[in-house]
Amino acid sequence: MKVELLSYTPEPDRVVAISARLCYSKIGISELAEKLTDDKIKDLLKKLESSGHLSPFEHANFTFGIEGISRVTSHQLVRHRIASYSQQSQRYVKMSNGEIVIPPSIKKNSSASELVYNLNDMAMSVYNKLIQLGIPEEDARYILPQGITTKIIVTMNARELLHFFNLRCCLRAQWEIRTMANLMLRKVKEVAPIIFEKAGPSCFSGPCPEEGPCPLKK
Ligand SMILES: Cc1cc2nc3c(=O)[nH]c(=O)nc-3n(C[C@H](O)[C@H](O)[C@H](O)COP(=O)(O)OP(=O)(O)OC[C@H]3O[C@@H](n4cnc5c(N)ncnc54)[C@H](O)[C@@H]3O)c2cc1C
Repeated sequence: MKVELLSYTPEPDRVVAISARLCYSKIGISELAEKLTDDKIKDLLKKLESSGHLSPFEHANFTFGIEGISRVTSHQLVRHRIASYSQQSQRYVKMSNGEIVIPPSIKKNSSASELVYNLNDMAMSVYNKLIQLGIPEEDARYILPQGITTKIIVTMNARELLHFFNLRCCLRAQWEIRTMANLMLRKVKEVAPIIFEKAGPSCFSGPCPEEGPCPLKK
C-alpha cells in the first residue's frame, strides 16, 4: 500500500492555536498570531483537548492519496462520515490487472494462498469474458473479489483524523486499515507535530474503551 500526504493547511498547529486564541481574547485577528511560540501553541491545544473544545481542530485539513488498499479497507474507511472521498470507479475503469490484497494469515498458509490465487484468476477470467460478451464494466464487477485493490483520495480535518486514529490505530482494528492509519499518522505528525503529538489509539491519551482482548492490556 502507498499513502501520500498530497496537501494540507499551511502551519496547521498555528492555525488551530490562532482559532483557539480568537475565542478567548479581546485582541484583533491580525494580532492573534503575534508572540505565538511553540510552547504557547502547545499550551492552547492542550487546553482545547482537556476542555473538549474541539472545533478549532476543524480548521486544519489534510488530503491523502492512497493506493493499493483492498476494497474491504476502503469500505471501512468511507464509514468515517466527516471526510471527503474520491475513489477510482469500477463502473468506468476496467479492472484489467486484477491485483488483490492477500491477508498475512492467508499468505503464510500455502494451501490457503493457492485457493485464493486460483479463485482470483478464475474471477478475473470470468470478468474479462463478461466484458467480451458485451456486459458493461459496472455489471461485470459484481463478480470481483473484495480483496481487489483500489485508489482513493481522502480529505479529513484534524478533529476527524484524531478520532479516526483513536479507532483505526487500535489493535482491535483490522490489520490493513490499521497499517494505513499508522502510515497516515506518520505523515501528519511530520507537518503538525503538536496537534498529533498524542494521536493514536484511545489508550495513548486516556482509558481504553474496548472490552475485547488486547495484547497491550495486562
Ligand atoms: C473495531 C471496529 C469494529 C467495527 N465493526 C463494525 C461492524 O461490525 N458493523 C458496522 O456496521 N460497523 C462497524 N464498525 C464501524 C463503526 O460502527 C463506525 O461506522 C466507523 O468506525 C466510523 O466511526 P464513527 O461513526 O465514530 O465516526 P465518523 O463517521 O468518523 O464521525 C465522527 C463522529 O461524528 C459524529 N457523527 C457523525 N455522524 C453522526 C450522526 N449521523 N449522528 C450523530 N453523530 C454523528 C460522531 O460523534 C462520530 O463519532 C467498526 C469500527 C471499528 C473501529
